[in-house]
Parts: sequence; structure tokens; C-alpha cells
Amino acid sequence: MDMPTKNEVFFDEDLIKRYDGRGPRYTSYPTALQFDDSFTADDYRRHARNSNDSGRPLSLYVHIPFCKSLCYYCACNKIVTRNADRVAKYMRHLDQEIDMQSELYDRERKIEQLHFGGGTPTYLDENQMRTLMGRLRSAFSFDESNSREFSIEVDPRTVDSKMMAILAELGFNRLSLGIQDFDPKVQMAVNRLQSTEEVGALVQDARANQFRSVSFDLIYGLPHQTVKTFDDTLNKALEMRPDRLAIYNYAHLPGRFKGQRMINDDDIPLPETKLDILRHTIEKLGSSEYVYIGMDHFALPDDDLVKAQRNGTLQRNFQGYSTHRECDLIALGVSAIGSIGNIYAQNTTSTIEYEAILESGELPVVRGIEVDADDLLRASAISQLMCYDRLEFSDFNAANKVDFLEYFGNEVKNLEPLAEDGLVTVDDDRILITPKGRLLLRSIAMVFDRYLGKNMHDGRFSKAI
Ligand code: SF4
Repeated sequence: MDMPTKNEVFFDEDLIKRYDGRGPRYTSYPTALQFDDSFTADDYRRHARNSNDSGRPLSLYVHIPFCKSLCYYCACNKIVTRNADRVAKYMRHLDQEIDMQSELYDRERKIEQLHFGGGTPTYLDENQMRTLMGRLRSAFSFDESNSREFSIEVDPRTVDSKMMAILAELGFNRLSLGIQDFDPKVQMAVNRLQSTEEVGALVQDARANQFRSVSFDLIYGLPHQTVKTFDDTLNKALEMRPDRLAIYNYAHLPGRFKGQRMINDDDIPLPETKLDILRHTIEKLGSSEYVYIGMDHFALPDDDLVKAQRNGTLQRNFQGYSTHRECDLIALGVSAIGSIGNIYAQNTTSTIEYEAILESGELPVVRGIEVDADDLLRASAISQLMCYDRLEFSDFNAANKVDFLEYFGNEVKNLEPLAEDGLVTVDDDRILITPKGRLLLRSIAMVFDRYLGKNMHDGRFSKAI
């Protein structure tokens, strides 16, 4: 499959305002809101063991929930602590979960992908990091080839040159750096101070240690940001030339997230300013060498994500976009979500419960879902649109043994208003997302989501823009 490279993305203020509703990011379909507690650890074990017949490679996600200080904008499930005993206790339980999970999977199945997320994975010190990676390596068979994708989320404030070399030595080859904004005034207002020089030095360390990919996360909509200040941040980021850039929208919901109450409402940019910042960002990156992948993500033309988009191997997963062929995903740690064959399974989101369940000798899986044939078709349509901006009916029909236009007759009809607004075109052969529609991918994907009616208005989704 030869996919065209896409870079054209068009900022249409009127459409953005009209479609700026809440919606899922579709890192999975069905989304986690559909998981329920009738799915048990027993179900998980059964599916895990059965998955060995497939021989599919494996992916590991490891959740480290701790942070040393609170970033006021944060909406993640995390524990802010400096209590070393607290962390050591969690690591002992994580160890136990690694043992229990690894017993379920055939040793021949290689770990091709590994991701450490949080919280702050780099909260761990050298010894803890070495011990954890050692435990994982002895419990599973790691793919040590260059095609492995071992990534870690890095808080620049917690890592120095020495730690960067250790991460490389332990096998990590991709980094995601939480930058958010380089402006000291913005950093002060969100309680996350990190200098441009420190970040620049880390990027150099990453290059020196031959990390294959360095990714920056930026956030727009933070206090005190203006088009000018965010332009400065973008310039500094572009100067460091990360392989990937993800630019997220900050949703100020102090009613839901206690930490956000530390941000002065009056310092939040007005909606008009936010839109101007987004417009400027899209136009600036659109005229740069970066390629728009979709859903807030940009990458350099020679990055694996761009190659995967060209050769048809790009996928959505819990980390956003990924280049890897389908793996079964084993989730380790509090709140982590795994995906094995046709099921999703989530560990409890309470650390206390996580530890208590493991102490009772059980896996901490407390909810999940077994997806049905209809879910799979919808997941395939959504993924296709979010990864490639197009869906060719003949390819879809051949891959899924259905007639797309017959099966999704209602959805195609529901696309008509979006087509009239210029977000998509639909003809007898394909759905194509237009440059105007590319910023509104999730509004388009939502047409294929059969669960949305139930969840749309409960405020649990972030805004599309
Ligand atoms: S943004 Fe990251 S480092 Fe900051 S509190 Fe949230 S999880 Fe922790």
C-alpha cells in the first residue's frame, strides 16, 4: 500500500469553533469508558494463555505513578511524593506483578516494544531503573535488535547526562521529553521550571547516546501564553530539531482537577488567543520541514512515523501513534491498560488497592472488555481515518470481509453534513479527509463510534481542539 505523504493542514477558524466539542482521542476503540468490572483477572488469564497460540510479538507498558512535584496543569493519575519507602513498596509489588504476568506468556514471544510511562518514570534512580529493567529482561525475552522500540517519558528536571547514558545502556532507544513551554513566566505559573539550556543539553546527550528518536511534548493554552511567547517556545524547540513534536491543548477544568485550582483563571489565555496560538502553530509547522501525522503530532520527514504513514504500517495505540506491527500489550503497574487479542484489561487505578490485590496473590486487573466483531470493524475504520486521512472501500472490504458501504450505510449518511462543511469527501471508492478536516480528525472518527451517545455529555472527554 503506497500512501501519499500529507503535510497540508488547513486552519479554518469557523469550522474549528463549530466542531470544537468534546471527544475521545481514540487511542483505543472501544475507549476505556466502555470497560466494565464484569471482566475479571480470570478472564484476563484465559485470554493471555490463549494468545500464545497466535505467536504474536509482545509489547510492555510499565507505569511509574510517582512525581517529585506537582505541575498545576496536570490531569494524570499520579502520586506526588518524596517518600522513598512509598516508592520502594510500589516497586516490590510491581516486581510481583512482573512475575505473575510473565508466567502467562510463552518465552519465545519477543518483547518488540517497551514503554515506560507515568507519572514520572525517571523518578526512579539509577539502581531502581537497573533493577527494574533487569527484572523485565529476565522475566521476558527482549528483542535486542535495532528494530526494537523501547521508549521512556522523561521529565528533563530529573535526568542528567549520566542518567541519559544509563537509559541508553539499558536498551531504551526513544525518548519523549515533557517540555510544555520554554517561557519562565509560564513555567512559574504551572510550577514546572526547567531551563532551555538544560533541555538543549539533554537533547545533545540523547544524540550522543544514539537514541533513535527524541520527541517533545508542548502544551498550548497554559497561563500567560500569547502568540508571541509560544512562537518563542516553538523557535527554541525547532532549533533543537526533535524528531517528533506533539502539541496538546490544555483544558482548564479546576472543578475536576484539584491541582489546576493553583492556576489563576485570569492568567489563562482567552479562547480567541488560544485559537490564534493554534493557528500560528499549525501555519508555522506547516511551512517547516515537519510532516503533520495527525492528532497533534508532527514528525521530521525521515522519522519512522512518517515512513510508516507512507508504507501503510502506522497504528494508533495508547501512546498515540506507533510504527510497530500488532503486538499483544502487557500492562504493568497501577492503572495500566493492556490489550491482548480481542480484549482490553485495566489494572485498578488505586495504588492502595493495586498493592492489596497483589498481596492477596491475585492480578490487579479490575475491569476490561472483550470486543465484538462490530467493535473490530469500527476500530479498523477509525484507525484508518486517524492514521491515513483516508479509507479506501476496496481495501477495507478485502481486509475485513464486509461491504463497507452496506455495513456503514448510516455512518456514511452521517458524514454528509461534515462533507457539506468541507471536512471530508465521500465518493463510491473512498472517504478522504480534507486539509480542513485534518485538525478535526476526532470529530470525523466519532461518526463511527457506536457508544458515544452514552458518554458524550458527561464531561469526561477533552475538547477536540
Ligand atoms: S505533568 Fe508529569 S511530572 Fe507533572 S505532575 Fe503530571 S505526571 Fe507528574
